[in-house]
Amino acid sequence: MKAAAFQKQNQVGVIDAPVPKAGAGEVVLKVHNCGICGSDLHAVQLGTLRPECIMGHEFCGEIHQIGTGVRGFEVGERVASLPWITCGECDACARGEGYHCRKNRVLGLGQLPGGYAEYVMCGERSLLKLPANVSSREGALVEPLSVGLHGVNRANIKPGNGCVVMGAGPIGLAALTWCKAKGADPIIVSELAAGRAELALKLGATEIVNPNERKPADRMRELTGRAPELVIECIGVKGTLAAAIDIAGTHGRVVVIGACLEPDTIVPMKCLMKEVSVEFAVGYTKAEFEETIDALARGKLNAQPLITDIIGLDEVPTMFDTLRSPGTHAKVLVEFPH
Ligand SMILES: [Zn+2]
Ligand SMILES: [Zn+2]
Repeated sequence: MKAAAFQKQNQVGVIDAPVPKAGAGEVVLKVHNCGICGSDLHAVQLGTLRPECIMGHEFCGEIHQIGTGVRGFEVGERVASLPWITCGECDACARGEGYHCRKNRVLGLGQLPGGYAEYVMCGERSLLKLPANVSSREGALVEPLSVGLHGVNRANIKPGNGCVVMGAGPIGLAALTWCKAKGADPIIVSELAAGRAELALKLGATEIVNPNERKPADRMRELTGRAPELVIECIGVKGTLAAAIDIAGTHGRVVVIGACLEPDTIVPMKCLMKEVSVEFAVGYTKAEFEETIDALARGKLNAQPLITDIIGLDEVPTMFDTLRSPGTHAKVLVEFPH
């Protein structure tokens, strides 16, 4: 089969690889769509992956082969998969938090082969069926949308909460989509890039503010007479956490989804004086994956505008180069003939 794999720092290539076989508790999918994620780009830039490892963790497809002991699935059924195989026995697994399972093996980021391939091997416990009215393109959005949902769930959002989403990259846009679906109003998106700002408006942002020109918190006060109740930080570079704390009002809640990899400073007194709570969010639960699929099926999520490009597997290496500079792309989906 053909697959896109890490080669060396800043280089992805299309390779020939054997079609995986499903062992006990495993299922092989024929991939329909797989989204390109910022963490894929990041891993390729860092160059830390094992050469020839097949990438891609935002995928869905149809069941091609079923391993022994797997029940409740049939060949040809369309499913999305959580991108890991877990132990199924620990406390984290019992809570549906596969991300926190210490024995989990992640698909597409170096441990197990991922979804930029005609076929991918998944764990039975990680599969969720896609209803007929959720397209495979939407199926590939379930993973990134669930990242946004997990953040929004950590924020304990209430209808009518004034919300600032910092950053309109794919994660910020996913968080925005859920803020909208859960009734946050107004939603101000803070973003510098004009192309991304336009996407945020399509996804239901009340307004876009360029933080170099105007303070999002000031704009929120003009609109509502109150400071923002909720700030979702989806940038993750030095200084953005402190900026999020500044934006939040008294008893405001900050949720951090952006992944900052270096030491960053905040002034605790600023949190203390406003009694701001700061939550960090990573991954998603299986229940959140289900909630995303259900919301897509019921037309509750306006997710289509997230998809900006559909490409073939052969175009993956060039697209990785293109995506190194942020443009007007949000979610790029690799599509396989099906
Ligand atoms: Zn991802
Ligand atoms: Zn476990």
